[in-house]
Amino acid sequence: MSSEDHDVVIVGAGIAGLAAAWDLRDLDVVVVEATERPGGRIRSVERGPLWMNLGAHVYGGPESAVGRLLDETGVQATDVPGILTAVSYEGRLIANGPIELYPLRLPFSTSARLEFVKVGLKLRRLVAQYAKVARPVPGEDPAVLQQRMLDFMDDASFTDAIGRMSPEVDAFFRCTLTRGTGEPEEIAAGYGVGYFHLVWNKDDGLGRAIVGGPQRLLDALAAGQRDVRYSTRAVAVRRDGDRVLVDVEGPDGQRTLRAKSVVMSTPSHLTADLVEGLPADLEQALRAIVYGPTTAAAFLTDEEGPQPWDGIYGIATPKRSTSMLFNMANVVSEILPERPKGSSFMVYAPANLGRAIAGLSDEEVLDRFQADLEQVLPGVRGHVVERMIHRVDPGIPFPFVGRGRIQPTLMRPQERIHLAGDYLGSWYAETSAWTGAGAARRARAEVAS
Ligand SMILES: Cc1cc2nc3c(=O)[nH]c(=O)nc-3n(C[C@H](O)[C@H](O)[C@H](O)COP(=O)(O)OP(=O)(O)OC[C@H]3O[C@@H](n4cnc5c(N)ncnc54)[C@H](O)[C@@H]3O)c2cc1C
Repeated sequence: MSSEDHDVVIVGAGIAGLAAAWDLRDLDVVVVEATERPGGRIRSVERGPLWMNLGAHVYGGPESAVGRLLDETGVQATDVPGILTAVSYEGRLIANGPIELYPLRLPFSTSARLEFVKVGLKLRRLVAQYAKVARPVPGEDPAVLQQRMLDFMDDASFTDAIGRMSPEVDAFFRCTLTRGTGEPEEIAAGYGVGYFHLVWNKDDGLGRAIVGGPQRLLDALAAGQRDVRYSTRAVAVRRDGDRVLVDVEGPDGQRTLRAKSVVMSTPSHLTADLVEGLPADLEQALRAIVYGPTTAAAFLTDEEGPQPWDGIYGIATPKRSTSMLFNMANVVSEILPERPKGSSFMVYAPANLGRAIAGLSDEEVLDRFQADLEQVLPGVRGHVVERMIHRVDPGIPFPFVGRGRIQPTLMRPQERIHLAGDYLGSWYAETSAWTGAGAARRARAEVAS
């Protein structure tokens, strides 16, 4: 097997690996990526002024780790305009007015309306508590903030903490909760509460979209690298004195890459499989991470002129094959001088909805999703011109009950093999980007020593 020497090898070209690579781009870095494209679970495909989106779509503000990458690469992002909290329920679309009053406008029974208001008030109180916990202290290490967020209401599931709901009310809240791919019975209560904080406070959470689609950021990060090897899979990673050896298999056959430092940005279970000689507690913590399934689909349409969904970005869709519907075209509506022809929608089926379609073919899933899309937005009927599906594997890691307890083990700095990825926290791509940047800092120090 031939071998090569480098400063740093980065395994995985998702946003975690590429964030690390970006900060180390002045060094001799090799990025190995098993698939033929950068981005991992972030994926979009451009179509004229629109794009079909098949994964992450909203990101943090300019001060976030993703915000810094956007700034440094010059990729344009914009605040998501319009309504994020619309609901389509049994054929009725509600997109304006206070969320608290939605139950009065939905075809709910009187008891369900009362229950909805009661649960809503309880959640509001908990979201206010969460907001205090999640507020960054100036100068604080994000790792400290992350630990505090994971510890908040970490001793019970969302269902145990909030109580069981009637099917009508449950369906409504479940749509938001399952976006992170865990059912309310599976996720830690604090994480569930945090999700409502995220959705109800778009200025505080994930409120920015990437113009042209998020793939643009990943392509720009990869373009900043001298040596990204696609279709190249790491098969083993082990320490060898003061170096790390990474065995890879790619189009040129097998070889060993020898580096002063390695960044592992693969999902947690793969990382545990690949790296030899991990401390036992760390290996156990990596294997304890739970990823829930999710399947995303994108639909491009060709209608012309104003539509009822213009001005709406996010619609919760209880009691359907998908939980949420996003209108990507809304992002460009305020940038372009006039409404573009057509729209681009993303839907997804997380957690149990994802499990329910596991045995269906891609065409069957797309037919089922499209039928629901056309019932939520009847004007779409007859206008779908292209559709795509992404069965995301693994899906998204979600904080389970007790997740905070393994966080110190996961975050403990390691020598020469540094971990990065969304499973190290609860902020999705933002966690990937800041853990990628942290891994890059530690790798740089080792290269310099
Ligand atoms: C439908 C959906 C919607 C989402 N929405 C949002 C959102 O709006 N905002 C948000 O912040 N997040 C969102 N997320 C989550 C976000 O996409 C992920 O948290 C993030 O992309 C994870 O990035 P990563 O780099 O940690 O992992 P990945 O993207 O999984 O990257 C890991 C990379 O490693 C590669 N790899 C695996 N094994 C090997 C190997 N042996 N050798 C070499 N390479 C290997 C993989 O191919 C992959 O490219 C969403 C996810 C989904 C699925």
